[in-house]
This record gives sequence, C-alpha cells and structure tokens, in this order.
Amino acid sequence: MKIRVVENIYDYNKEHAEENRKIFKDNKIMTINILSSPGAGKTSLITETIKKLKNKRIGVIEGDISSTLDAEKLKEYTEEIVQINTGGTCHLNASMVYNALKEMNLENIDILFIENVGNLICPVSFDLGEDYKILLSSVSEGDDKPVKYPKGFAVASLVILNKIDLYDYFVFNREFFLNNVKKLNPSTEIIELSCKSSEGIDSWLDWICKKDISIS
Ligand code: MG
Ligand code: ZN
Repeated sequence: MKIRVVENIYDYNKEHAEENRKIFKDNKIMTINILSSPGAGKTSLITETIKKLKNKRIGVIEGDISSTLDAEKLKEYTEEIVQINTGGTCHLNASMVYNALKEMNLENIDILFIENVGNLICPVSFDLGEDYKILLSSVSEGDDKPVKYPKGFAVASLVILNKIDLYDYFVFNREFFLNNVKKLNPSTEIIELSCKSSEGIDSWLDWICKKDISIS
C-alpha cells in the first residue's frame, strides 16, 4: 500500500483555498480575512460594520481557540454566523473555512468576514481563499507591531489602526508606526479609526464598498 505523505502543509492548504475561492466567486461573495493580535478590536470592527453597512448582507466566520463568546455578540446583528473552534490551533486553515461554509446560506451573503484567531504570526501564512487580507492593529498595542511582526503588514491589502481615541492615554509614535508600515508595504492603504467614537469608520466603509463593486 502506498502511503500518501503531505510534504508541505502550505501546498495542502492551497488546494482547499482554491476550492473556497471558487465557492466565493460562484456565489459573488467578497471575502475579507482579518488578521490581528488578541484584543485589537476585530469583533468590534465587524459589529460596527454590520450596524452601519445596512445595504450589504454580511456573514461572519469566527475563529477562536475556544469559546463562542464573539459569535454570541455578533449573533444579534447577523444570522449568517459560524464559529470555528480550532481546539488549540493558533490559526485558521482553508479546510476549516470550507467546513464552516457548508453551514451557511451563501446566497444570503454579499460580504463575508473571516475573523482569524488573534495572532500576528502563523495566520499570515494560510491562504483561506479570501479576496483580501487586512491587518488590524491598535494604539493600545504599541507602535512597534510592524517592526516586530512585519509579514502580516507586508501582505495586507489594507492596514487599519484602531482605537485612535486612546492616543492621549498611551505612548504611541504615530509617525513611527505609519512609516514602518509604508516601508514594509508601499502600496497598502492605511486607515486610522476608532470603533468606539466612530471616527474614521466612514473611510473603512468606503474602502469596502469600493472593493465590493470591483468584485461583483
Ligand atoms: Mg474577537
Ligand atoms: Zn498557528
């Protein structure tokens, strides 16, 4: 008997990512994979987006190591939500997303957010079949994240700096942060916002609508 050896987990993942990409395309769904460290505000960003973008039907896949806490919060705003508990794995892979998609009414979704596990390291390396990877960072995490975790910033189509309402309470060198992001990824867009005060949220909603038109 021949034993099948999967030599490269990234190649293996890639096959599933292509399947997902086809599903998204066939169903005209724009998919955004949100990467960040824990506590940067991924769930808050999704919540504010669903509340404000009323003309789009938004679905969510919630990735967490355990618990359904974030999915419980979002359930109030959308019916199309699936929680993936990775059981300790620190990132989502494409087959987890494929299985989650089976639980969703895809014809009821225009935009799908995938909230990845809070971790700035390995989620970056796993293609989920998404249209865009975005990197969410926040003022309370400090201005050094692009320097310490460059890969996510380098591949992101958009970098969002959240919690700008907290500038007065943290030592955060805005220029240092922005310059390092531009150095890593000269073509990326950067949006500064606060999910709490709503400052800057319109720029984010504009970005989504612009990208959505170019896909559908
Ligand atoms: Mg969350
Ligand atoms: Zn991982």
